[in-house]
Formats: sequence, structure tokens, C-alpha cells
Amino acid sequence: MKKAVYYGVHDVRVEDVPVPEVPDDGLLVKVKYCGICGSDVHEYHHGPFVGVFAPGVWGHEFSGEVAEVGPKVDDYKPGDRVVGKAVTGAYAEYVAAPSRLFHKMADAMSYEDGAVTEPTTVACYAVGKASLQPGENTLVVGAGPIGLLTVMALKAAGAGPVYVSESAPTRRALAGELGADEVFDPTQCDLVEEMKKRTGGKGVDVSFECVGIRPSLMDCINSTRRRRRIVVEGVFMEEVSLDVFHLLEKDISLIFTLGADFDATVPLIAEGKIPSARIVTSTIGLDDIVTMGMEKLSQDIKDEIKILVNPEI
Ligand SMILES: [Zn+2]
Repeated sequence: MKKAVYYGVHDVRVEDVPVPEVPDDGLLVKVKYCGICGSDVHEYHHGPFVGVFAPGVWGHEFSGEVAEVGPKVDDYKPGDRVVGKAVTGAYAEYVAAPSRLFHKMADAMSYEDGAVTEPTTVACYAVGKASLQPGENTLVVGAGPIGLLTVMALKAAGAGPVYVSESAPTRRALAGELGADEVFDPTQCDLVEEMKKRTGGKGVDVSFECVGIRPSLMDCINSTRRRRRIVVEGVFMEEVSLDVFHLLEKDISLIFTLGADFDATVPLIAEGKIPSARIVTSTIGLDDIVTMGMEKLSQDIKDEIKILVNPEI
């Protein structure tokens, strides 16, 4: 079978490798789509990351069909439609892993929905950790895949106004289509002032950092009302310095998240409350994973949001 193998920085090779053996307690799954995650792009440019992002995380947002079931598994059968929960190596025609690392898809979900389920669980988990009160106003900084999914998760959770800050025009437009009440270009306005204007001078109740750089985190800190919450979802590749006294003075909660709740998220996607697949901008074949995938997502144009790899094309 074909598999895109990560060897190191800017070294990815599509190779012919044996189909993996199905483990006794596991499944062999035929991959339908595998989404390219921002962490994979980081890995491509700066990896391999030992610890948080070991090389193994390469290709973890996928959907597929069960091809074979291990002898000790009785809750799955061939033909079942699944998504990976913590399975990696899915830039390939097949993946095999213990069955507990998969989650069944709802009938109403497409395989495209399935491929964006994992990042959606990340956004839903973050929104859950924000302990949103009815009507609270919110700010999402960064409208990449996670930011856009956070906008949808906030809307599904009944948030008050959802404001979005994003410098790329196509991403701003999509944020608006997906339910953001107002979108701002932080390079063209004073975001903190705009937030104050809309909240009687106080700032938003909850802000979500979805970029992973200091200026975005500072926008969140400065736009958020005293005694309220900031949720950090962005993957920071560098250490940042913070004025802790200022945070203390604001008596603010800084919440870090990296979790997933598939049981809660799958029904929201299946019922159409979170139309996650709207973030998909292209589908490519395995052979194009570098040129049409990794490289394209690294450009500043930011027209692409989520690219899916289809190993069958
Ligand atoms: Zn991911």
C-alpha cells in the first residue's frame, strides 16, 4: 500500500509499504480521508518533536471503513465507519490500531465530516472548558481550522455575540458565513478598542486564542474583561513572556486546553449543529501531500483552511 512516511524536516517520501497486520484487540481500517493538521505542518518544517509531538503524530485526523477486525474485538465489524481518536500514521491507504483508539461515526455523517471530527472535538472541549454562561460575549482570535471550529462550537453552545479577529480576508469571510457576529482585521483596526466599544468599555467575557503566538495572546488578554476567562487553544512553538502582575491585577483566568470529547461532539456534527466539513477547502492525493498540502498550508496567502488527503486518488 502507499504511505507518506515522515523522515525529518522537509523529508517526506511516499513509499510502498506492507499493509499493517490487524492487532488481536484492534482494527484494520481503510482510510477514506486524512486531514492535514497544523501540527503536521509544524512537524514538516521544524520537527521531529520529541515529547508533545513525537514523529508518530503524523496523520491523525482521519475517517475510514473497517476492513478487518481482530479476534478479541466484538463491538466492531467489517464495513463499520470510524474515525481515529488517537491513531497516527493515517497518510496511508490503511491503518491498524487497538479498537479503543477508534470511535464509530454516526450514520448521518459523511467521511468528510469524519475527517474533521478530531479537530472539532478539540474546539468543543475548549468551549466546554470555558464554562460559558448564557449570553456571554466572546472573541475568537485567529480563524484557521481551530478558530473556525471554535466559532461553530460557540454558536452551537448558545454563546452571545461571537467576535472574530483574523487578518486573512478569505478566513474572515468564512468566519462570517459560519456564524461569527462581527469579524475584524487586527491589522486595520484597534481590536481592543473595538471590543471595549461593544461591551460598555469592559471587554469580552471569554476570549479564545487560536493562533499560538504572543501578539494573539496579548490581544486576548487586553480584550477580555476583568475576572473573566481566556482559553488558549493555539499551539505555541516558542516560549512567551507575560506580565504576570497585570494578569493578577485583572484577576483573570488563563485556561489551557488540549482535550477531546468524541461522545459529545459526534452528535453535534451528525445533527448538523456544527457543520465542521465547511472548513474543508481542498482534497488531494497522497502523492501531492508535500506540494499541494504541507507547502500550500505554509504560505502566507491562507486561502486554504483544511486540506484532506484521499489515499484513493
Ligand atoms: Zn490535529
